Amino acid sequence: MGKVTVVVACAAAVAVGLAAAVVVRRRMKREGKWGKAREILKELEEKCGTPVVKLKQVADAMTVEMHAGLASEGGSKLKMIISHVDCLPTGNEKGVFYALDLGGTNFRVLRVQLGGKGVGLVNQEFAEVSIPSNLMTGTSDALFEYIAAELAKFVAQEGPEYQLPPGRQRELGFTFSFPVVPTSITSGTLARWSKGFSIDDAIGRDVVAELSKAMRKVGLDIRVSALVNDTVGTLAGGRYEHPDVVAAVILGTGSNAAYVERVQAIPKWHGLSKTGDMVINMEWGNFRSSHLPLTDYDHTMDAESLNPGDHIYEKMISGMYLGEIVRRVLLRMAEEAAIFGATVPPNLKEPFILRTPVMSAMHHDTSSDLKVVENKLKEVLEVSNTSLRVRKIIVEVCNIIATRGARLSAAGIVGVLKKIGRDTLKEGGKQKTVIAMDGGLYEHYSEYSKCLEITLEELLGDEVFKNIVIKHSNDGSGIGAALLAASHSKYLEE
Ligand code: ADP
Ligand code: MG
Repeated sequence: MGKVTVVVACAAAVAVGLAAAVVVRRRMKREGKWGKAREILKELEEKCGTPVVKLKQVADAMTVEMHAGLASEGGSKLKMIISHVDCLPTGNEKGVFYALDLGGTNFRVLRVQLGGKGVGLVNQEFAEVSIPSNLMTGTSDALFEYIAAELAKFVAQEGPEYQLPPGRQRELGFTFSFPVVPTSITSGTLARWSKGFSIDDAIGRDVVAELSKAMRKVGLDIRVSALVNDTVGTLAGGRYEHPDVVAAVILGTGSNAAYVERVQAIPKWHGLSKTGDMVINMEWGNFRSSHLPLTDYDHTMDAESLNPGDHIYEKMISGMYLGEIVRRVLLRMAEEAAIFGATVPPNLKEPFILRTPVMSAMHHDTSSDLKVVENKLKEVLEVSNTSLRVRKIIVEVCNIIATRGARLSAAGIVGVLKKIGRDTLKEGGKQKTVIAMDGGLYEHYSEYSKCLEITLEELLGDEVFKNIVIKHSNDGSGIGAALLAASHSKYLEE
């Protein structure tokens, strides 16, 4: 190109640029806050984008981290905890077994009666008890004695049909969903508390020993035959019903996954002697990768959280955080685009005021005038007179954040399937792969769960996806623990 034409070309480019700027400015003037709100929305959509190539990178990173977490202690953000569950229920278990499910402010005691091969679950009963708040920050003895006393009440109320044969001890599975280092199938050391519990003298102790001591004190003769967390319990509960269950995923307040690994694929230093299968508790909430589409909203939420730098994946996909991310976006829209008028609603400044169930209710609003959104805004943020335009923007924000979460959790599942070679078609192509799923987010947020499944199909291809089943196991973790008490029963040899 000659000199003259270059100059002409540049001038033309400048002219086009100027014209564009004028158009934008005119539009801003005409549209005012709408232009700004849409700009924030567009930026959010771009930053939260999860195209298939990106999701495949996330899935690959998950697989890589799984290997790294198994290869050495502290080798990955994924702890990849050996659960010591090497004997999953088959459906042939027989007898009466108990479970205790503790993982939040409520705990459940339950009893199952198993009929054996071909019969399955004959009977189940449970009681749910809330834990007085003073016990959540008291002493280890006080907490475990309270739990043992409730269990004793439950046992005392049972009918004669549950009498065990003479000389046989009752057995119990203990679902304890706090950070524990399992040391065997029947022991584990409490590393720290979470979820509002803070009982210093329990840390470093074996939680099974603590429970057993408390049971003896209240006169209960029960053996703890399995110690697990909710995710491993869910996997066991799923396996009892479907022999093809290979993994469990929890999508509730938090998120976690567990899967069945071949002992052969577990590095020797773990010291596992038998061959066969072993359930690994991934603690996948702590996953992180440079491929995760993080935004400034995520970074500031993380920085202000109780555990900055930790649980980055969980903070993008789980129920505790989705509503909070939406709140942060709306706050910025209120401040910079005045979507709620000249003043920012004071409630909108309060962290975690917008819970995920509210977000999902707004997202699922199918009324033409978005009445649900209007009511939730009134209820939660105390803002009234919102225009339909604002409500539509809010639904779109919910959609972007839920979609990102659901697609990322699908990518995580694909990472797990890759690790165990279930992401491709095997000869015959008939092998089913079942994933046991539990948690209030998955159960109630249908846009989320729908999106998760569509994304799985997108990532795996329809041929592979045909053999994948996501099985919702409602509160399977308690029953799962009872089933594990059965499959690890001390009477099995007899
Ligand atoms: P947890 O994970 O605490 O053991 P759940 O599995 O019952 O308990 O999950 C509860 C979580 O599920 C809530 O914290 C919330 O984030 C989410 N959740 C509950 N109901 C809904 C709903 N209607 N829509 C979206 N999310 C919900
Ligand atoms: Mg739960």
